[in-house]
Amino acid sequence: MKRTLINLKKNTVIKWAYLGTVTSIIAISMISSNIYPAQASQGMNVEIHTEEEIKEYAEKHSYSEDTSYIELPDLKAPYSAGRLSSDSLNSALNFLNLVRYVAGIPYNVQLDDEYTKLAQTGTMLNAVNGKMEHNPSKPADMDEELYQLGYKGTSSSNLGWGYGSLVSAIKNGWIEDGDANNIDRVGHRRWVLNPTMKKTGFGKTGIYTSMYVFDSTFEKTDQYGVVWPAQVMPTELFGKRYPWSISMGYNVDYESVNVKLTYENTGKVWNFSSSGSDGEFYVDNQWYGQPGCIIFRPDDILGYNDGDRFKVEISGLKENVEYEVKFFDLYIKYGDANKDGIVNSSDAVLMKKYLAGYKDLEINLEACDVNLDGVVTSADVVLVLKKLAGYDVVLGK
Ligand code: CA
Ligand code: CA
Repeated sequence: MKRTLINLKKNTVIKWAYLGTVTSIIAISMISSNIYPAQASQGMNVEIHTEEEIKEYAEKHSYSEDTSYIELPDLKAPYSAGRLSSDSLNSALNFLNLVRYVAGIPYNVQLDDEYTKLAQTGTMLNAVNGKMEHNPSKPADMDEELYQLGYKGTSSSNLGWGYGSLVSAIKNGWIEDGDANNIDRVGHRRWVLNPTMKKTGFGKTGIYTSMYVFDSTFEKTDQYGVVWPAQVMPTELFGKRYPWSISMGYNVDYESVNVKLTYENTGKVWNFSSSGSDGEFYVDNQWYGQPGCIIFRPDDILGYNDGDRFKVEISGLKENVEYEVKFFDLYIKYGDANKDGIVNSSDAVLMKKYLAGYKDLEINLEACDVNLDGVVTSADVVLVLKKLAGYDVVLGK
């Protein structure tokens, strides 16, 4: 799928658009334990939620990738913006607040009717023009008032192009920000994770998506050290293209900062500084929600998997920052019997061995019960094999 993202910061109009390809996430192969002690962090004050708390929150605030409308957008004169259904709006909102809950910042962002109207009208305007732009031109036959609404929407929002849903735009676009034109600032992510955000609005017209971010009703909050990935991190929300970031809330000196990233499962280390890095390294002091963002992306990462643990140590700031990140699967990966993040023939073989009575197997039985009848039987293996053979089978339903 092709996509485009545009980035913006407060009081500045936009500069560029980027056309890139979304790559799929490939997980690394490993089996590891899922039980860890509580961790201490330093130089940051975001909340830390446990795996259980995050799972419970996600369950209580469900979301879907369906898009439906109360009124369809009309892309022909005299034009109308259309209105998304409350189901679609609330799905996007729930997902946004889930991301914020994971990040340990306020997760009570609400929908604002005016922001939603602006965001929706903005996506209609972009769809009419056939271009994703923060400063779109006026279609000759469009009413000036409608155009101004749309313009206000596009110039105050994260924009996306090519995403099938608002949830996908947030997850795969705005919090990813790993493409060449966004990685040096991760501006969309910082707006999504802006601690002071209180209200937002969403829009979607065809493949154009929008999330209003210039919230003027914000409440002052004191979070600093907002990190992504978060300290307890669902694998579903982070992939190999995703850069790591930490927003300090104050200007950071690029020349002084040193980051050491350690993969605790093996001891492998990556270092990042202005004099050289084992990957990509940036500092951005522009105002995307908060100033002072340190960004790094390690080379040679195939993906992030349940049980992966990392340590981050940052020096050269007002005070040293140190924290750990442990990844976990928020949702059961049905069919992934050996817990390596993918479903393939190795999983079917392992399930067959289990059913044949082999002992001492490392097997995730919960993930093997793909027909959800409470037991692992040959019926589950059959479904996995069908899935692998390309049949239209959904595991875990
Ligand atoms: Ca597997
Ligand atoms: Ca079963």
